Amino acid sequence: MALMTCPECSHRVSDKALACPSCGYPIAGDGAPRGGVAHVVGRVAGTWLSVSALENIVIAIVFFGGIAAVLITLILVNR
Ligand SMILES: [Zn+2]
Repeated sequence: MALMTCPECSHRVSDKALACPSCGYPIAGDGAPRGGVAHVVGRVAGTWLSVSALENIVIAIVFFGGIAAVLITLILVNR
């Protein structure tokens, strides 16, 4: 992980960040799509959000969603 300077506001920002935490300028390094969702998320969140952190959130949602689906199915079947 390296720090780079935001071309928009000169804020120091991680090259793994989706967008500058200061001004929302899309950074999105390592092959991530520029603009689009990453840009919107960066602006809305306004905080440091790395691509790997986003992946972890998605994996967690899918994981707990799967567990919830199994529990709901078991509850319905056992009635
Ligand atoms: Zn900036």
